[in-house]
Amino acid sequence: MYYDYVVVGGGAGGLELVSRLGRHFGREGHDKVLLIDKSSYHIWKPTLHEVAVGTLNPQQEGLSYSILARSNHFSFACGQLLDFDPENKSLTLEAVFDDENEAAIIPERNIRFGQCVLAIGSGSNFFNTPGAAEHAYVLEHSLDAVDFQQHLLNLFSKAAYGDNKNLDVVIVGAGATGVELAAEMLEAYHEILPIFGSSQKFDIHISLIESAPRILAGLPERISVQAAQALRAKSVSIYESHRAVEVGTDFVLMADKLRPDAEPQRIHADVVVWAAGIKAAESNADYGLPVNRLNQFEVDTHLQTPFAGVYALGDCAACPWHDDKILPARAQVAHQQASYLADKWWHEYKQRPFTQSFVYKDYGSLVSLGNNQGVGNLMGSLSGGNFFIEGLIAKWMYMSLHLKHHAAILGYWKTGLLAIARLAQSRVSGRLKLH
Ligand SMILES: Cc1cc2nc3c(=O)[nH]c(=O)nc-3n(C[C@H](O)[C@H](O)[C@H](O)COP(=O)(O)OP(=O)(O)OC[C@H]3O[C@@H](n4cnc5c(N)ncnc54)[C@H](O)[C@@H]3O)c2cc1C
Repeated sequence: MYYDYVVVGGGAGGLELVSRLGRHFGREGHDKVLLIDKSSYHIWKPTLHEVAVGTLNPQQEGLSYSILARSNHFSFACGQLLDFDPENKSLTLEAVFDDENEAAIIPERNIRFGQCVLAIGSGSNFFNTPGAAEHAYVLEHSLDAVDFQQHLLNLFSKAAYGDNKNLDVVIVGAGATGVELAAEMLEAYHEILPIFGSSQKFDIHISLIESAPRILAGLPERISVQAAQALRAKSVSIYESHRAVEVGTDFVLMADKLRPDAEPQRIHADVVVWAAGIKAAESNADYGLPVNRLNQFEVDTHLQTPFAGVYALGDCAACPWHDDKILPARAQVAHQQASYLADKWWHEYKQRPFTQSFVYKDYGSLVSLGNNQGVGNLMGSLSGGNFFIEGLIAKWMYMSLHLKHHAAILGYWKTGLLAIARLAQSRVSGRLKLH
């Protein structure tokens, strides 16, 4: 099999790239552009915390790669990357097995390419914390989120029918993922409470552990302060400058970084979610491409690896930024890199010069704090400066980012229709997925 353009990973960046390229080529695109993903459907990763608590239904939200391939004129191959040969411009995909893992539905495949971009995202960084990988839940993939939601529903029932009528949740890491998960979980709790009636009423207590001196440490301080106030008002306990040093079946041990001589403190946890940082897959180091200590592929400012025609973007790429830093792992970065590469490849195909480097424009950050509440800042050309927003407007702008991603892969008309259909569905079934 040979394709001119192969994109491995159909996430926030990869899917937007193939959709744009395929639409440029029209029907010809099916023979030129190939998307590879280990999953058969796409969910925008920044919404995984909503899937995890059941306020977003993955069966409705998931977009089938095959359907997107048909309408956007690219081909799709389902499979996990097994081997990558940058010198010979080829890769191998693992066989795909049936549900029982017995019979191969699709055999192992070798695919040759003209140009390829690796856009396979990242996973969790446990920082070698004992017990974290074994006992904590993560939100790396939609299946993790679905798994967690099932567990959370069980925990809600257990707390409602248990003796102490209490549910202790510990979230390690108070970046956007941890903060948004805490807020969304409280929404789910308030939605589910009436189902149990007053005799089964239970309390939820969420603790957020953050090793930096403030939550949302990567964002402007004003956003952190506002978000911390909103969470504390909802009785979330925030432990700043604290590092989780061990995770057990029903506890987290945390050390106070400001009091290094003090004994680590043990807090009870019915469930632990690890959202403390990202690390790309260990297997990235086996593909013959240079990687950094987080297993991210090292690329230049054209997103190219040292091998001609081999690129990387999004969370799995270490792309130079300013002051020796690399670009942050954010959907905004993946989105802009996808647009850049689509333009670059299209210009080169048309034999038009394209020499500019990728330049990241930070348009600001938005954090959801639950129903009708958000906080963030808008920067640069969107606002003509650095502009702080909060409340309902911030929440709406936050939701519009998801719609924007859908518009990039479905077009505005279908995105609008889908949004109306989902609104209607939530009016009928309620906001929370309960099964
Ligand atoms: C809960 C949560 C909330 C977040 N909130 C925000 C936010 O508010 N704002 C923000 O900017 N960012 C946010 N992020 C980060 C953001 O989601 C990522 O930066 C972004 O998704 C990265 O895009 P990507 O294309 O690099 O990778 P991804 O979107 O992760 O996509 C990677 C794709 O590659 C596929 N894949 C992986 N490995 C293989 C393999 N070996 N073979 C084949 N396919 C493979 C996966 O199935 C997936 O489809 C959040 C992340 C999480 C988890």
